[in-house]
Amino acid sequence: MIGVAVLGSTGSIGESTLDVLARHPDRFRVVALAGNKNAAKLAQQVIRWRPDYAVLADESALGEFKERIAHAGITTRVLAGESGLSEVASLPETHYVMAAIVGAAGLHSTFAAVRAGKRLLLANKESLVMAGPLLISAAQASGATLLPVDSEHSAIFQCLPANTRAGETPKGVRRVLLTASGGPFLDWPIEKLAACTPEEACAHPNWVMGRKISVDSATLMNKGLELIEASLLFGLDPAQIEVLVHRQSIVHSLVEYIDGSVLAQLGSPDMRTPIAYALAWPERLGSGVEFLDLIRAARLEFCAPDLERFRCLALAQAAARAGGLQPAILNAANEIAVQAFLERRLNFLDIAGVSEAVLARMTGGPARGGLLRGLSDVLGADAEARQLACELIPTRHAMERGAHA
Ligand code: NAD
Ligand code: MG
Repeated sequence: MIGVAVLGSTGSIGESTLDVLARHPDRFRVVALAGNKNAAKLAQQVIRWRPDYAVLADESALGEFKERIAHAGITTRVLAGESGLSEVASLPETHYVMAAIVGAAGLHSTFAAVRAGKRLLLANKESLVMAGPLLISAAQASGATLLPVDSEHSAIFQCLPANTRAGETPKGVRRVLLTASGGPFLDWPIEKLAACTPEEACAHPNWVMGRKISVDSATLMNKGLELIEASLLFGLDPAQIEVLVHRQSIVHSLVEYIDGSVLAQLGSPDMRTPIAYALAWPERLGSGVEFLDLIRAARLEFCAPDLERFRCLALAQAAARAGGLQPAILNAANEIAVQAFLERRLNFLDIAGVSEAVLARMTGGPARGGLLRGLSDVLGADAEARQLACELIPTRHAMERGAHA
């Protein structure tokens, strides 16, 4: 039996993971489930799965959670905080770790899993964007296996030679074509974008996801973070990665080889396919996903992204080229700006504005050299970028008036 720790089990990827695991009780055992503060949902999952451990990152929800599981007569060990997440990620009985926490909050537990030599099923793209070179070298040192869960990266991985490992440049690859649905605002004029609401931004046409990644999909920052993710995972120059808008979300990405061959991976837009692939690799497992009907789909369309309306993608392309700490700075500023947008403190177009302003200010400072020597550099840049973004948000409009004066 393969022991699995699902970090972020109460989220969208976490729930899809449990759905796939439930189809293969003969093969997998849930060792640990972990969420942030939704005590009711985590308790419900713990009652269903009876894992050895449960972790709530936010200690304030611990009392309610313990009461709920005690009431159900469950003996699962309960841990809390960041240290609890890292502990379950490194247990000897944990063989696979699903890293499905959203944002920089997933960084430490992702590293803990890699350092302990686990198979890491990586949904938490932010940790790779922040500290990719460190994460990959830690995996090489410990023998951990890093497998992508992001649908595009799973697609690329499936189109690469079978022995490809994270961080190694596969032979014969000319380019990677990273597909993007374009999000809910693909056809919106820029004037309308300025006034869009969080509800509109989270209403993705093809995927049901958490709120942060939904907003990132609407700004195309998600594609930008994925470009950084792809360049690190597959050892590619960012110039070798082209973003292609494909509104049907059926072709999940493509790899072009030097002989002119282009391989693509297709499937219904359902995260259970990449999750099942990362769980089963190098084999295949049933995932419950609806099989693709190409006759019903009928059309597969592709076009170039509009970098004027979706400036976040251009910012991420530049950060990918610069490397070093710039991706971490961009990621941190974006997380703060997205949160402010979701709380209606910032307008949609200013997500790019805040991210750009933070990058501009910080790359003039000590982060400029972009040296990513260790995790402390990443954490320092992350904290500074968050602070700067927070300072910029309430004064953003005043700042803009100043800039125009
Ligand atoms: P979500 O918001 O639905 O779930 C996030 C999970 O993280 C929840 O379990 C939540 O409790 C947990 N969490 C939040 N803050 C935390 C904290 N401070 N400490 C510990 N846990 C915390 O998000 P999601 O859509 O499932 O996305 C999860 C990750 O997977 C993200 O990095 C996202 O980019 C990536 N991803 C998601 C999809 C998708 O289809 N949903 C696709 C590709 C990649
Ligand atoms: Mg994706």
